[in-house]
Parts: sequence; structure tokens; C-alpha cells
Amino acid sequence: MSMQDKAIALCQAMVQCRSYSGQEEGVARILKQFFEQSGYDQAYLDEFGNAIGVINGSHPGPTLVFDGHMDTVPVPDPALWTQEPFGARIAGDRLYGRGTSDMKGGLAAAAAGAAAFAQATRRRFSGRIVVAGTVYEELCEGLASSYIWQAFRPDYVIIAEASELNLKIGQRGRAEIVLETTGTTAHSAHPEQGNNAVYSMCKAIQALTSLPLTRHPLLKESLLVLTDIKSEPYPGSSCVPAGCRATFDRRTLTGETRESILAPLQACLDELAARDPQVKATVSYARGHGCSYTGMTYEVEKYFPAWLFSPEDAFVSRSLAALDEAGLHADISAYEFCTNGSYYAGFKGVPTLGYGPSQEKLAHTVDEYIELSQLRQAVQGNQAILKALLS
Ligand SMILES: [Zn+2]
Repeated sequence: MSMQDKAIALCQAMVQCRSYSGQEEGVARILKQFFEQSGYDQAYLDEFGNAIGVINGSHPGPTLVFDGHMDTVPVPDPALWTQEPFGARIAGDRLYGRGTSDMKGGLAAAAAGAAAFAQATRRRFSGRIVVAGTVYEELCEGLASSYIWQAFRPDYVIIAEASELNLKIGQRGRAEIVLETTGTTAHSAHPEQGNNAVYSMCKAIQALTSLPLTRHPLLKESLLVLTDIKSEPYPGSSCVPAGCRATFDRRTLTGETRESILAPLQACLDELAARDPQVKATVSYARGHGCSYTGMTYEVEKYFPAWLFSPEDAFVSRSLAALDEAGLHADISAYEFCTNGSYYAGFKGVPTLGYGPSQEKLAHTVDEYIELSQLRQAVQGNQAILKALLS
């Protein structure tokens, strides 16, 4: 079986194994078995549950990590699908199922591409290749990647998320911002005795969403989008609510920092409070917590920075040239969604590229699919990038 066919078979096996965030063990074992059967030097699952395969070159040199997450978003309503979400059925050039585009196809193409590169070169290359199937990306991008960075200190990272075989050199960051207002409860028959926290929330939302946002030519707009809201007590039968909490999704640009994102929001709320003393409002970063399938608990601040490299950076232009040489012309752009690149590039400054099969817009959709031709070409493209960066 060719390595391209093996990538398709691996993708199918992984799609048939449901792997919502925190439930990736089955897919991790499938991937580990693929590493073992495809000539990898090391294949293991780390303490957080990431599946790791390592191929060593004959000469010392840089470490290149392929990062692909193993978890998928759920299928809330299978009845909406015309295809079985975990059937991995092939029809024509399409392989259907949850996670085909996001991103078991990309992960399979990375695992098979690395194996094919090692075979074709008989390992005569410099450095080492690490393929990391990571957990929990859909809930907390970058978290699992911190374990990969810690273990391997990569010189290059390829994020294997769908790029339609183009080269992605950056992405917006993401922050989850919590807005809280406080008031005083009272019987709703005597509202004048209380201070309604929801009324304050309405004013605070109005003020924050009126603030100007910035734009970047490649990364596009920064955003501030309300995603949920809840009053306290809830339900509030005959009670003036004393508390209210809303969450905003803030998409961030390069140059923005943890501090510079929050400061203007709080300043805006302080100004509002100065005009309207009823309003007591604060902003802070949301915290995420959970437990990996290996039983490790985590708690993180939901701040994931933006990152961007230049087309002139040598690792970018070399990769682009190698893809061209392989007959796989790629354009340069930035991801519209968030990826584990936030950790490697955003926090650690590691030279990072996005390269993977399929279209970005197919992620999280009903009847999600991947085109087999894209998957096959990604196996080739990954070999071209390895040749560019590890020769
Ligand atoms: Zn993804």
C-alpha cells in the first residue's frame, strides 16, 4: 500500500473512533500503532495523553514538530447529517465524517508524510521529526502543545490544520473575557430598594461594544463578540438580580498583549461608572479547567496570542520553493481560526507554518468531509517541507 493510501486508511480509522475533547484515548492508540508500524524510532503516549512519534535523521540538526489535534467538536444532531458522522464513508473523491477536515486528515497526512520522507531519504537527513497528535485543542488551544514544546524544544513547527495546501504564516489570537456587574438584590415589588445588575450589564455591553477595533491587512479585524450571559440568582423569581456575568470572545492581533487587551475595556467601564454610579463592572480573563483522559487536571487562563511571520523569513520562502518544486504551488495567507500555533509561535516564538489538506470552512460543519486528492497531495507536500527544512 502506498503511503498516500495508508494516510487515507489512517484517517478513516481515526474518524471511526469518536474523540471529543477529553476522550481521545482510542485515536491516540490508533496513531501510536501507525507510528510503530511505519518505521518510527519512538512511539508513545505522554502523561497528558498526546500521541508522539519520533523519527531521527542520520545527522544532528533541527527538530521539526508536526502538530495535529486528535479531538473533534461534537455532533449535536446526527439527524441533520446525510452521512454517518463516524462512518468514514468514501463517495467519489470525498471522505465523510466528523473530524475529516478538522483535522484527522491533516494529522494522517503529517504522520504518513514523515514516514514517507524517512523511507525515501533512508533517513539521510539532519535533525529529527516529531509527529504529535495532541489532545484538547477544541476547548483550549495550545494547552497540550505546551507538553510537546517542553519535551522537544522544536526549531520548527508545522500546524497540520486545513490550509487547502496553502502556507499559513499567522493567525489572530483569542481571549475569553468575562464582564461582571454587581448590584443589590431586592424584592421586585420594590425595585427602588435594589440596584439591578442586569441593567448595569446592558449599559456596560453598550459601552464596550462601541469601542473602536483595529484591523491588520493579513490577519483582518480584531473582534469583540458577546457569546453568553447569565444573571444571578437565576431564575430570578421576584428578585432584583444582584449579579450578572457575560463572556466575550475577543479575537486579537499581533502587537496586542495580555495587558493591552484588558486595560482599555476596564478604562471604558470606569468612565461609565464615573458618569453612572449605579454601574459596578469589571473585566477579567476567563479560566478554563478540565481533565485529560489520562486523569491530569488542568486550569488555564483563556488568553491565546496572535502570531505572524513574514513571507521573507527563510523558513517560509524555503518551504514555498520546495512546494513549488514538487509541483504543489502554495499561496501565503493567515488562518481565520485559532490553532495550537498560539502556543509555539505566540508564546514561544518558534518558527511556525500552517500546512494541511482541505478547506478551513469545512471545520465544524454538518456533513464534514475531506477531498482524497487534497489528502494525497498533503502527504507529498509535507515531504517537500521536510526536505526544505531538514536537508
Ligand atoms: Zn482544528
